[in-house]
Amino acid sequence: MTEQGKKVLLAAPRGYCAGVDRAVETVEKALEKYGAPVYVRKEIVHNKYVVETLRDRGAIFVDEADEVPEGAHLVFSAHGISPEVRESAARRNLLTLDATCPLVTKVHNEAKRFARDGYFILLVGHEGHEEVEGTAGEAPEVTFLVDGVEGVDTLPDFPADQKLVWLSQTTLSVDETMEIVDKLHARYPQLENPPSDDICYATQNRQVAVKAIAPRAELVIVVGSQNSSNSKRLVEVAVENGSKDAHLIDYAHQIQDEWFDGVNNVGVTSGASVPEVLVREVIDALAERGYADVEEVTTTTETITFALPRNLRPART
Ligand code: SF4
Repeated sequence: MTEQGKKVLLAAPRGYCAGVDRAVETVEKALEKYGAPVYVRKEIVHNKYVVETLRDRGAIFVDEADEVPEGAHLVFSAHGISPEVRESAARRNLLTLDATCPLVTKVHNEAKRFARDGYFILLVGHEGHEEVEGTAGEAPEVTFLVDGVEGVDTLPDFPADQKLVWLSQTTLSVDETMEIVDKLHARYPQLENPPSDDICYATQNRQVAVKAIAPRAELVIVVGSQNSSNSKRLVEVAVENGSKDAHLIDYAHQIQDEWFDGVNNVGVTSGASVPEVLVREVIDALAERGYADVEEVTTTTETITFALPRNLRPART
């Protein structure tokens, strides 16, 4: 039952993006078409529930291609892979299905093109993240990672005539990235911008939506896993934009009673790798705490979809 003045502000868009939807469907369709087991390199997307559900259906998650039996089916995750991983899979004669998000592939193509044209690439992203490893792997000898605003200070001095361009991971905070880029431009006047944003539409849209609810919500709950970059950014964006408190949870049972002292409005959103069922469970748990009145705050509507990898598309008749 709704208690007077208590409300949930539900951000939209939230949850699955087109790249995650495609990646999860790739594993599902591969299991249907080829039967279990289907191997997946790394987590197909960074969400515990999704990984556990696919594991129950016969997916086997591995760290590297050399753990997969020769000739088996291997899916590459949404975060993309370096050419070295592709070569390692080919050496084992693996039948590969590439679930790399097309928007990550776009950044790979930019990296290859700029490297070919003699640029050094300043790659803004988080050290150790799979997407960054994949993108950097396209041109490792000319790529320099910039991790956070402080990362700019750790870069070498480049000659003034060295061509430079910045690229980025797709799931960063838009505001923090602009701060980093401003600092890069100040340090390297010759730095060029990429032809288009690398931070993807889904990351940007979810951040805009959480910015719309954060000033009205004393508490924001972000549904997502700890290793999900875009979900973690939503927590930061919520706090930076007016919410007093924000938490990242995988499941509704992780909600803690002490978060609700003096809270009238609870904002809810979810990362791009989170199925809606997990958000519904959070909404139900909040209703049990008296927050049954739900207002959806929509900042845009998404219509983007991506086709499945070619070998999984229905045969043309
Ligand atoms: S978050 Fe963006 S880049 Fe990542 S899978 Fe989704 S659409 Fe693609």
